Amino acid sequence: MIPGVRLVLLGKQGAGKGTQAVKLAKHYVVPHISTGDMFRATVRSGSPLGEKLGYFMEAGELVPDAVVIEVVETRLREDDSRTRGFVLDGFPRTRPQAEELQAVLEPLGGLDVALDLEVPTDIVMARLSGRRACSQCGANYHVEAPPQVEWTCDVCGGEVVHRADDTPDAIARRLALYEQETEPLLGFYRELGLLCVVEGVGLPNDVFSRAVEAVDARRERARV
Ligand code: AMP
Repeated sequence: MIPGVRLVLLGKQGAGKGTQAVKLAKHYVVPHISTGDMFRATVRSGSPLGEKLGYFMEAGELVPDAVVIEVVETRLREDDSRTRGFVLDGFPRTRPQAEELQAVLEPLGGLDVALDLEVPTDIVMARLSGRRACSQCGANYHVEAPPQVEWTCDVCGGEVVHRADDTPDAIARRLALYEQETEPLLGFYRELGLLCVVEGVGLPNDVFSRAVEAVDARRERARV
């Protein structure tokens, strides 16, 4: 395994991006950059920006592109992501975000791969309605697969909660926005020759093995 990768993870809400992003980031020794986790931390800080973000997030709406792009660009300028790469989780979600990311990465050699986790809508609905998440580190659980100690995160000891945007209305809105704004990015990355599609149904470790195989195959093709 060659450490370092510049990877974006695509897939519907509930496709398992968060779970796979953590595993992939550890495997390739790169930071896991989740815009959702960064925004939730800003909301918890109680700052004026956090208050504004909370309004969009609770309703299942997208945060405006200009705000998201500024946050991601600042993060990508840090040493770890500049030198080793990253796993981007939850970004890009719109065409302007994807175009801006291409522009930012151009001097760094560009993106290696856009990995799409394919999961049918009925399965993501079932996952999202029973999902519980750590309010500190973002680790995901399910009412049928809770943490070992009552609603205390196995990873960091944080409180495991029902996310404010995992309500039926907000879930429906987020999935509709995915279809409208984010799904078209599959075509964008396919045209650039960067798209890898991986079946996201199954045990997390099996999905992870498929993902690593697809990423390594794509990097091998790009190298020769
Ligand atoms: P997530 O944890 O990725 O589902 O993100 C939670 C919420 O944060 C989303 O429903 C949006 O309100 C906001 N958000 C996260 N990433 C983005 C993005 N790239 N563009 C716009 N809004 C975002």
